[in-house]
Amino acid sequence: MKVRFWGVRGSVPSPGPNTVRYGGNTPCVEIRAGGRLMIADAGTGIRALGEALVRERAGAPIEAHVFIGHTHWDHIQGLPFFAPLYRAESLITLYGLPGTTKAFQEVLAGQMSSAYFPVRPEDLAAKPVHVELRGPVPIGDARVTYHYLNHPGVTAGFRFEHAGRSACYLSDHEPYSRLNAGGEFMDKEDAAVARFAADADLMICESQYTPDEYRQRRGWGHSAFEDVLELALRAKVRRLALFHHDPAHDDAKIDEIEQACAKASAARGGPEVFAAREGQELTL
Ligand SMILES: [Zn+2]
Ligand SMILES: [Zn+2]
Repeated sequence: MKVRFWGVRGSVPSPGPNTVRYGGNTPCVEIRAGGRLMIADAGTGIRALGEALVRERAGAPIEAHVFIGHTHWDHIQGLPFFAPLYRAESLITLYGLPGTTKAFQEVLAGQMSSAYFPVRPEDLAAKPVHVELRGPVPIGDARVTYHYLNHPGVTAGFRFEHAGRSACYLSDHEPYSRLNAGGEFMDKEDAAVARFAADADLMICESQYTPDEYRQRRGWGHSAFEDVLELALRAKVRRLALFHHDPAHDDAKIDEIEQACAKASAARGGPEVFAAREGQELTL
């Protein structure tokens, strides 16, 4: 299984001289396994991925399975700029949770209404297929499962598995037990998230805040890196990628968070920890 990060930034694109090393594009992760291409989220990072795919396939059909964890702007905004959607021979499937007020397809189409975008969804030459998730999805020999996360709106995390390897993608999420007074229900929900990520070779997890920042933004649906480490320890994952970096964090700040989290993990015999960078590729 190969994993490549195309966008690692949370909330809003943040290009500029202070974010060049980690990158300013919003969430998009490419997963290749068993000859199949899967994509987690369609933030602005998916634009460059689309261009790379067009070059790689050189006119041959592009088959891609795009899993959208939730439809906040930062996770879908790159989709209208995904070049394979403008090629009739592409085979694109978009997976997401059913919306609470609108169908998944309708929610995605909303960002392409004429008030926001010049091309209509029905004019996309690839005619993508929309699938509302109802259970595990087989992609060739690979398998994708999902689990609900704690974030405003309906949000899923994904687990990609193939030939004994697994990558778990959790974005966006706030630990349940951090909210209200905690309690049995919250503990059960946190345990269920840890079970979902259990023994993953790689856990990609949003870790937007420092502990201090979290205290001021409780209830916004994001995590502090210390809680992400707790989850990784509980799930006994092999590697932890800190992800969905706060747009206000420059490269030096992310270095600092990476070092603090890696040190805390090493002290407890935990997983290898790194802050995900745009362009970074891993083989699991
Ligand atoms: Zn987000
Ligand atoms: Zn969100």
